[in-house]
Amino acid sequence: MLTITDLTKTYDNGVRALDGVNLTISKGMFGLLGPNGAGKSSLMRTIAALQSADSGSIVFDGIDVLADPQSLRKTLGYLPQDFNVYPRISAYDLLDHLAVLKGINQSKQRKEIVEGLLAHTNLYQHKSKAVSGFSGGMRQRFGIAQALLGDPKLLIVDEPTAGLDPEERNRFHNLLVSLGEEKVVILSTHIVEDVSELCANMAVLASGKILLQGNPQQLVSEL
Ligand code: ADP
Ligand code: ADP
Repeated sequence: MLTITDLTKTYDNGVRALDGVNLTISKGMFGLLGPNGAGKSSLMRTIAALQSADSGSIVFDGIDVLADPQSLRKTLGYLPQDFNVYPRISAYDLLDHLAVLKGINQSKQRKEIVEGLLAHTNLYQHKSKAVSGFSGGMRQRFGIAQALLGDPKLLIVDEPTAGLDPEERNRFHNLLVSLGEEKVVILSTHIVEDVSELCANMAVLASGKILLQGNPQQLVSEL
C-alpha cells in the first residue's frame, strides 16, 4: 500500500507543481487523471524518488520513500513519460544489459528473467530485432519489460499510451491489467477512457491538488 500525505513540491522557478496531495493507493490498477500541467509527472517522479519534495510524506510498504529512496528503488518499476531507447542492439541484448545494471549477475538466471519478460510483453518473437526499429506499441511494451526487471511491487507508468493506435493501446492495457493483479500499478494519463476502462480506483489531479478520489464509475459521471 502507498500512502501520500500533504505532499508539496515547488520548483526553483517558483511553480508549485504539487500543493498538499493526499492519496491512498492499494493493490491493483490506480489511475491518476489530469490535464497537461496538472502535476502528474511531478507526482510520479516524486513517488519514484527521482526528485525531492518540500514537505509531506510518501510511504510504500513501510518504506519512507523521501527518507530512504534506495529501499524504494529495489521494489520500484518506472516507465517515464519520455522513455526513449533507440539503440541499434537487439531487444534481447538491451534487456540483458539493463538486467546486469540492475544487479542480476548470474547468467543462467538472467537468461530466464530476460526471456520471461520478453514473452510476457509479447516481444519474444522480436527479440533479435533492434529496439530502434520497433513500433510505438512495441517500444512501450519494451519499456514495461525493463521496468519489471527486479520484480518490483510498485509499477509507475506515466502517460504510456500517447501516440499509440487503438490496437496497440488495447494490447498495452491488457498487459497493465494483468500486472495489476499482482502489483500496485499507477497509471497517469489525461485520457478519461484509460482510467474508466482499466482502473479500480482513481483520482483527479488539477493545479497540483487532488480534486476527487474514488471509483471511476462514480467519478467519471461527475466529470
Ligand atoms: P503533467 O505531468 O500533469 O503535465 P507536470 O508535473 O509535468 O504536469 O507539470 C506541473 C507544473 O510544473 C507545470 O506548470 C510545469 O510547467 C511545471 N514543471 C514541471 N517540471 C518542472 C521542472 N523540472 N522545473 C520547473 N517547472 C516544472
Ligand atoms: P506492429 O504495429 O508492428 O504490429 P504491435 O505492437 O501491434 O506492433 O505488435 C507486436 C507483435 O506482437 C506483432 O508482431 C504481433 O503479431 C505480436 N503479438 C500480438 N499478440 C500476441 C500474443 N498474444 N502473443 C504473442 N505475440 C503477439
